[in-house]
Amino acid sequence: MTARRTLIAGNWKMNGLSADGVALASGLADKMKGAGAVNFEMLVCPPAALISKVADAVAGSGMEVGGQDCHMNEKGAHTGDTSAALLKDLGCGYAIVGHSERRTDHAESDEIVAAKAAAAQAQGLIAVVCIGETEAQRDAGQTLEVNGSQIAGSVPAGSTAANTVIAYEPVWAIGTGRTPTSAEVQDVHAYIRGELAKKIGDDEAAKTRILYGGSMNPKNAKELLALADVDGGLIGGASLKVDDFWAVAESA
Ligand code: PEP
Repeated sequence: MTARRTLIAGNWKMNGLSADGVALASGLADKMKGAGAVNFEMLVCPPAALISKVADAVAGSGMEVGGQDCHMNEKGAHTGDTSAALLKDLGCGYAIVGHSERRTDHAESDEIVAAKAAAAQAQGLIAVVCIGETEAQRDAGQTLEVNGSQIAGSVPAGSTAANTVIAYEPVWAIGTGRTPTSAEVQDVHAYIRGELAKKIGDDEAAKTRILYGGSMNPKNAKELLALADVDGGLIGGASLKVDDFWAVAESA
């Protein structure tokens, strides 16, 4: 069994003003410092405009900071976008790409997501590539097919366990309080690892962390994080309060 370090990642989405973000980041940094050695890695992904302040607030705590998105191009005339180089420069170690809200709100295809992941990796960031089926696709029995095809299309050439994390997020579970059963989560994660192996080889796939995301909270985290192919969580709502996010992390 290959050791994969559990990653507890918070996606703050478009929430909070600067004082909220700094308070949340500082509160978590204090917990991390107080805890000493922990068996998980903690990542927070604030809104882009808050990255700099959050990076300052968590400095020296061992926590990682990430972007919620990055542009596929290195720089240029792309008003309102953020480059992977700037994320890196501001102190990020990770960039989420292909979150279902980006795929829906900004019509991001697998091809765009793969280009963004490659741009993040080229800057030395770890790309957190999000995939997941909609409720209609689940009801139509297409869960494995959809996730397999998103792995094939959204994971760029050159991906390795060191520069890539996969986040399986059933779209119908995000922000709804609903989750698949633990057996379903494990089945999909094992399938995803198999599909990933077709792209990056058995060894790298075995070492790559696959996170579960979708209504993970302090109550269900322990059971989900204990599953054999679940290597952490991507957490939205429950990442916005220090105590909730810390409780999820402590379940690892
Ligand atoms: C997410 O948006 O990545 C997410 C998992 O949100 P929530 O935890 O709120 O379902």
